[in-house]
Amino acid sequence: MKKIISTVFVFSFLYSAFAIKSNSVLIVTAEKEITDTIPFVIDEDELSDYSDSLVSFPAYDLYCNWDTVHTHSAKFDIADLKDDVKEIALYDESSCGYVHPFSGNVTSGFGPRRKRFHYGADIDLETGDAVGAAFDGKVRIAKTSKSYGNVIVIRHNNGLETYYAHLSKMNVEVGDEVFAGQIIGLGGNTGKSRGSHLHFEVRYLGHPIDPTEIISFTEHKLVTDTLCVSKKTFDYIVEAKKAASKNKAGSKARVHVVKKGDTLSAIARKYHTTTKAISKKNGIKTTSKLRVGQRIRL
Ligand SMILES: [Zn+2]
Repeated sequence: MKKIISTVFVFSFLYSAFAIKSNSVLIVTAEKEITDTIPFVIDEDELSDYSDSLVSFPAYDLYCNWDTVHTHSAKFDIADLKDDVKEIALYDESSCGYVHPFSGNVTSGFGPRRKRFHYGADIDLETGDAVGAAFDGKVRIAKTSKSYGNVIVIRHNNGLETYYAHLSKMNVEVGDEVFAGQIIGLGGNTGKSRGSHLHFEVRYLGHPIDPTEIISFTEHKLVTDTLCVSKKTFDYIVEAKKAASKNKAGSKARVHVVKKGDTLSAIARKYHTTTKAISKKNGIKTTSKLRVGQRIRL
């Protein structure tokens, strides 16, 4: 009997020890689980909102982000296009199609403009004129920027993004679903703008596309149902880069103001020229002593 009691005792001791141990293991696991999951704990209602919104970010697979801070989406590397031609459907039966944002004259189109490249089409309007969304989509940006002024960027399901800049008023907020033709704001003259107009841009994965490739600004309708994006679509970038470097070279000070310690040879090296060329241009000897503040033509 004694033996039985002691055996039971030993077993019950072992069991309780094991139970405590198991229990403590469970607690630890549970605590670990709780700790690990805290950042992701979302109540049921939120969860459904969250997963709904993730699914409903337009072209999320393409962009892998939904950036509501930076006006421009990160630019994809055009080299990745290789020789591919990507067909982007501009119209599907479930959408409201295309509605021209504002029926005004184009005062400046896509392309090189003076010293810079103009990445959109400027449509003439009066401040207060209603501006509509071109396609159905979701508002990614609705903010005030230095250059664009009040700007709205809408991302569309096909991956295109449309920009509406210099607005006097914005009627939509980030995350709003909009339909083609919905009045998203009023035209204006905010940001870097000379006179009221709508600066309208079409971009794909961060890169501007000539909007006339898809839109007739005289007939206010699409010129195609499908946009074919290939390397050729972005040929203008080479042109834009050339214009930018030319502009940089052109705007580079052609006069150097002498600072303390400057020598003619150092100046020549800096501007990729020779002391001989500088001396000739400025009517000075190559050995002339420079004075601080002296203007050297290059
Ligand atoms: Zn513009």
